[in-house]
Amino acid sequence: DTVVLIGSGGREHALAVALAQSPLVKEVIVCPGNGGTKAEGGKISNAVDSDGNPISKQDNDTVLELVKRVNAKMVVVGPEQPLVDGVVDVLAVECPSVKVFGPSKAGAELEASKAFTKDFLQQHDIPTAKYQNFTSADEAIAYVKALDPNDRQVVKASGLAAGKGVLLPTTQEETIEAVKEIMSDKAFGAAGDTCVIESFMTGPEASCLAFCDGKTAVLMPAAQDHKRALDNDEGLNTGGMGAYAPAPCVTPEMHKEIEAMCIKTVEKMAERGTPYVGVLYAGMMLTPNGPSMLEYNCRFGDPETQVVLPLLETDLYEVMTACCDGKLDSIDVRFKENVSAATVVCAAKGYPESYPKGMAIQGLEQAGSVDNVKVYHAGTKLDDENVTRCSGGRVLAVTGMGSNLTEALAASYKTVKQITFEDSNGDSLMHYRTDIAKGAIRKKLR
Ligand code: ATP
Repeated sequence: DTVVLIGSGGREHALAVALAQSPLVKEVIVCPGNGGTKAEGGKISNAVDSDGNPISKQDNDTVLELVKRVNAKMVVVGPEQPLVDGVVDVLAVECPSVKVFGPSKAGAELEASKAFTKDFLQQHDIPTAKYQNFTSADEAIAYVKALDPNDRQVVKASGLAAGKGVLLPTTQEETIEAVKEIMSDKAFGAAGDTCVIESFMTGPEASCLAFCDGKTAVLMPAAQDHKRALDNDEGLNTGGMGAYAPAPCVTPEMHKEIEAMCIKTVEKMAERGTPYVGVLYAGMMLTPNGPSMLEYNCRFGDPETQVVLPLLETDLYEVMTACCDGKLDSIDVRFKENVSAATVVCAAKGYPESYPKGMAIQGLEQAGSVDNVKVYHAGTKLDDENVTRCSGGRVLAVTGMGSNLTEALAASYKTVKQITFEDSNGDSLMHYRTDIAKGAIRKKLR
């Protein structure tokens, strides 16, 4: 079968590799893809238009034309934007026989509107922080003023804000400033037309991804990611500098509880007439009172995908087919036991602020031959001479596997050290964190 995979990040490289492993898959066409998916060869290629030129877009019309032209059997949607733009709905109307792995626009509301999700969680008794939604800055400020000043709050733009729309003020004055920034100054544009004010919680965070078929859900091993740019969780927030799975902070009991929350969510979405198919990503905080839902995303996480998919034992294409057919309970979704995965993101120096592009990446060939390691590309391009060059802030995600986290990390870091990208003076322009999963390992050893 031919699969069209939408997206261009490390997540999509990992999805492409996992899909291509299926004997049922003839080809995976990534739209638009990156240098890694292009260099992969075999069943994997980047999308081209009818004249054979690379496609650089992923809007609904482009996807629809491609899906029809290549006679795709399945479409897998990586990033949230096409989902929020309704690509699944368009395909359902225009190509009803094509299986589409991803939620409809109505399902993607779970990511696109934090206010909607908070109401949904509260209505269905799914644990989440106490909150109020506001469409008026004055009312939001009045609410904050009426609270006990020691009751710390978090202020969130309800809409999509590229992971930046959550403010963590520490005092009542700062909370009011945060409301103004989001609602009056429109720091995140229309995403801040509605804002959510919720109680501050504490605890470790975990990313719990579930396969969903419109009726039920199966939870994958929990992962933890590292959002800050620098070691010791310092520096700016990023798309993610590394991740590992399974995350030991999520006990088997918590895993069951979180799975039950995802199942309930899928059941209730179906009852509303908006069945949810695809991946539901539950951002959890493991509070002293148990796991609490921070947010939902409506797709695989990046870089969590690069550590969770390598643990999947069952054929990914079969799992996705079962999801599209509403038959998840007809298959046994298995994950490798006693295997851990860790990924280290190699970023361009300066990311997430301004950073250089165009550097040739050295050492990829050697890195590609290391056992138990896979180098997933994110911001890379293959130039006309087949040289892989940096084209984004997060450049590579180097995933190592092992029988425990220590081994997985050792494999990953050993490989990272073989890779370089430099300026013309030979100075390194690569940055990576050196403390991925360190906290988890320290706790285990204790
Ligand atoms: P992402 O980039 O993961 O999509 P987002 O912008 O959609 O994030 P959230 O995940 O809801 O927003 O929040 C971002 C971060 O803010 C969380 O990972 C968490 O660290 C912190 N946070 C959010 N809500 C709370 C809360 N109620 N209490 C404490 N910290 C919180």
